[in-house]
Amino acid sequence: MSSKVYYGSPRQARLKAEETLPAKLDLILDRLNVRERVKGESVVIKLHSGNNLGYSTIHPIFVRKVVQAVKDGGGRPFITDVDWDVRGAEARGYTPEVLGCPIYPSAGLEERYQYGHAEHPYKSIKTWNVAGMIQDATFLINFAHAKGHPSCGYGGAIKNLALGCMTGPTRSAMHDVMHFEPYWFPERCPDPAAFKALLASCPHGALVEDKHHPGHIHLHFEECNQCGRCLKVAPAGSLKIDPVNFHAFQEACAISTSVTLSTFAPEKRTHMVLATHMTPVCDCFGFTSMPILPDAGIFGSDDLVALETAVLDATSQNPLLEANVPTSMEVHTRVGHPLRWLHGPHKDPYLVTAYAEQLGLGSRAYELVDVFPVEQVFQSEAVYIAAR
Ligand code: SF4
Repeated sequence: MSSKVYYGSPRQARLKAEETLPAKLDLILDRLNVRERVKGESVVIKLHSGNNLGYSTIHPIFVRKVVQAVKDGGGRPFITDVDWDVRGAEARGYTPEVLGCPIYPSAGLEERYQYGHAEHPYKSIKTWNVAGMIQDATFLINFAHAKGHPSCGYGGAIKNLALGCMTGPTRSAMHDVMHFEPYWFPERCPDPAAFKALLASCPHGALVEDKHHPGHIHLHFEECNQCGRCLKVAPAGSLKIDPVNFHAFQEACAISTSVTLSTFAPEKRTHMVLATHMTPVCDCFGFTSMPILPDAGIFGSDDLVALETAVLDATSQNPLLEANVPTSMEVHTRVGHPLRWLHGPHKDPYLVTAYAEQLGLGSRAYELVDVFPVEQVFQSEAVYIAAR
């Protein structure tokens, strides 16, 4: 069965405020019945508040509208993100005065306030530590900004929960699952000269010598776009660039999200994504690059998987804005989602939606409901006459 995803186009027919994205957010909040659902609830609004010089996270004007809707409905809103992003968020315009509610570090100032969950162990992860402020809330509004991500190609609504609701050690462990399956077989590369040549073969600096195990390769999966140049140099069987390592991160994201969602009743959670100014990498990098995809609009749904699939479909309608891609990155495939062109074939943004659906977090089938369809304004058929 398909789930409804409410959508506001970034396009407008007329130059009027009511046809712009903040106004369409209001319509989406109406369709999601946010005001009617939050009375008496402690409402956590989870967003990414960015870092350092980033200016492409969700603009405060959108956040304030969500806060106001919660207040209108009699809920008690607060905004949260991980400690190191909340610290200094005022420099990016996120203050209680501007947003209309408190902003708390999700697990306290030292990231120690957490709840451990031992269900769903995965590879080296035995316990998932959910940030205390998030689990303590009774209603979840997941408000994400869409952008690229170096580990999995795309970061949106699932990643906002998957990494953003866990404390530091769990976030690190989630990145480390990419190293769980062996990819380096040193006995197949005994020659130091061959080892050196292998290190030098990667144009992206993804291959380094393991600082704890000299003579061993450490692969920075975030930097690797699976171009395969190293495999042409590596002695036979010594190195694998294998989908299983890359896919592990996305599976961990789906499991992590399921753990956080399990702390809220199904009717006590909703999700929204703002797909504007989409940069090549995550908002935690502390800067904003040029947008590499055209703005795709704003989306909302109670079904996280349907929402994420709809955003991915919408953002794949147009090709990558290749002129805006940083010159240190390369486009080496033009198959699938445009973010896959940039981050490589093993970082398919859709994969996490498949894992999430398997875990029962929602349905990839969706019905897109445009909350303010763009009117095709009639243009006169009379010939244009230039003024003199
Ligand atoms: S596949 Fe390409 S980017 Fe990845 S480690 Fe090998 S050379 Fe580097």
